[in-house]
Amino acid sequence: MTIALQAKGLTKEFKGFIAVNNVDLSVKKGTIHALIGPNGAGKTTCFNLLTKFLQPTRGQITYEGRDITRMKPSEIARLGMVRSFQISAIFPDLTVLQNVRVALQRARGESYDFWRSDRVLSKFDDQAREYIAEVGLSDLTDERAASLPYGRKRALEIATTLALSPDMLLLDEPMAGMGREDVERISQLIRRIAENRTVLMVEHNLSVVAELSDHITVLARGEILAEGTYEQISKAPEVIEAYIGA
Ligand code: ADP
Repeated sequence: MTIALQAKGLTKEFKGFIAVNNVDLSVKKGTIHALIGPNGAGKTTCFNLLTKFLQPTRGQITYEGRDITRMKPSEIARLGMVRSFQISAIFPDLTVLQNVRVALQRARGESYDFWRSDRVLSKFDDQAREYIAEVGLSDLTDERAASLPYGRKRALEIATTLALSPDMLLLDEPMAGMGREDVERISQLIRRIAENRTVLMVEHNLSVVAELSDHITVLARGEILAEGTYEQISKAPEVIEAYIGA
């Protein structure tokens, strides 16, 4: 199986404190890969390094065989690896359809103009509706983003990310702050997205991780503690200790 994203010797120091220490990570193409670990393990730092929101102190990162260690997030997005942004990236006063249209227009590098947006952007309607359907929001197409319940906002956020046509999606705690119904809905959505894309996510909800992930990397104190399927890592004594002893 080919590797989508790979890190070798990934290290990040903050003023002498090593938050991520010599991490080797391989995300196989077409899989759902989860990064887990107790608080302070270095997950967020690792995620920010992989998505190039932070520059590593040492180490190398490749995506589809290309060295992306020195690239900007916008450059790797053009290669097909996209980080899902937080809800703040959504325009609350625009409808679901208008938000995805704007995302499509931005993905093409066109500048956008809210005042003329409906007329100018309607050429993106068909494609926007496809992404809206993919994330299960068709019945809410004309609702203002601000009026959507939390879980639906995250689905919209994912739709605007899909507008960038990623081959690989990086999701930072996609289930954070969600009730059971939304967790189930977003889980199904991630599974659907992963049918023809690679997904790497940081996620706290272990039952979601167990259900969705093909491969899990467990971090603790900035280092890899264990790797494998949920079956494998959940039996590893060092993982049990890290979670219980944390
Ligand atoms: P996690 O996401 O697993 O909870 P983080 O990556 O947020 O862990 O943090 C790992 C460690 O690195 C923590 O001890 C945290 O305090 C430290 N850390 C994270 N970011 C910074 C920073 N910008 N400056 C200094 N220390 C940081």
